[in-house]
Amino acid sequence: MSCLACGNQQHEHLYDGILSCPACKFSRADLNLSEEAAKKIYGKNYFFGDEYVDYLNEEAALRENARRNLKWMASFCPGGKLLEIGCAYGFFLDEAKHYYDVNGVDIHEEGCKHARRAFNLKARAGNFLDMPYPENSFDAITLWNTLEHLARPDLFIQKSSRLLKKDGALFFSTLDITSFPAKIRGKHWRQIHPPTHISYFSWKSLCIMLEKAGFSIADKKYRGEYRSWNNTFFTLFVLRAKNKKLYESLKKRNWLKGIYYLNTFDIITCAAKKR
Ligand SMILES: [Zn+2]
Repeated sequence: MSCLACGNQQHEHLYDGILSCPACKFSRADLNLSEEAAKKIYGKNYFFGDEYVDYLNEEAALRENARRNLKWMASFCPGGKLLEIGCAYGFFLDEAKHYYDVNGVDIHEEGCKHARRAFNLKARAGNFLDMPYPENSFDAITLWNTLEHLARPDLFIQKSSRLLKKDGALFFSTLDITSFPAKIRGKHWRQIHPPTHISYFSWKSLCIMLEKAGFSIADKKYRGEYRSWNNTFFTLFVLRAKNKKLYESLKKRNWLKGIYYLNTFDIITCAAKKR
C-alpha cells in the first residue's frame, strides 16, 4: 500500500507492527481492520474500562477542553453550521451549540444515543464516509483526537473538504510521531497503541494531505489538554502497571478528584481553511 499522504511506494519498519513512509514520516499500524472489527473496538468497553475508566466521569475535563477550543475557533469561524466527526457522548457539541448549529457523527452508537437523549443533539451513528451530507453545506468541521483512529484519514479529510463551504474551516487535533516525546520514548510512546491508534502523523504528512484536499493552513500549535486525575491514575496503575488495588485505594480516599492541565508537546492542533 502506498503512503496515504505523499503516495510513496516504499515503507520502512519503524517499530514492531508500525510501518513508516521514509519521505514524509506518515506511519500506520500494519493491520487490516474491517468496519465490523472497528465497530467492536469502539463498543462500550472502549469508553468504560479499555481506554477510559468511565468516559462520562471525564465530563469536566472534556468540557474545559471544548470551551478552550471554541474560543480559539471563533477567530477563524465565529458561527454557522458545524459538524463534529467523532462526537462520542456529545460534550463538545453541547458546548458548541451556544455558537453554532451543531451536528455530530460517530461510529459508537451508545455515545450518539446519549448525545441525543441527554443534550437533545443531532448525532448520527455510523461511518462518516457513508453519510449523505450535502456538499458545500458546513461552515466548520471538527475532528478532535480522531484522525489517529482512522484507517483512511486521507478520505476523511477529502470528504470534509467537499462538505465545507468555500472559506469554511477544518479544526482538528492529532498526535505527532516526529515530536520530541515520540522520538525519546520510541515504541513506548504513550500514543502508540494499535488497534485504537492506527494512523500516526508528522506535520509534513498533514500538510500534504490538507494541501491535496484543497486546504490552506491557518494556524498550528502544540497545546496541552485538561485531564482528570482519575483517568490518569487509571491509565498508569490499572492499564500499564496492572495494579488495580493501589488505584482503588487511592480512589476510595478521594484522592483522584478534579482535573489538571498538561502539555506534553506531542499533540498538533490545527485550523485549515478550504480554498
Ligand atoms: Zn509519505
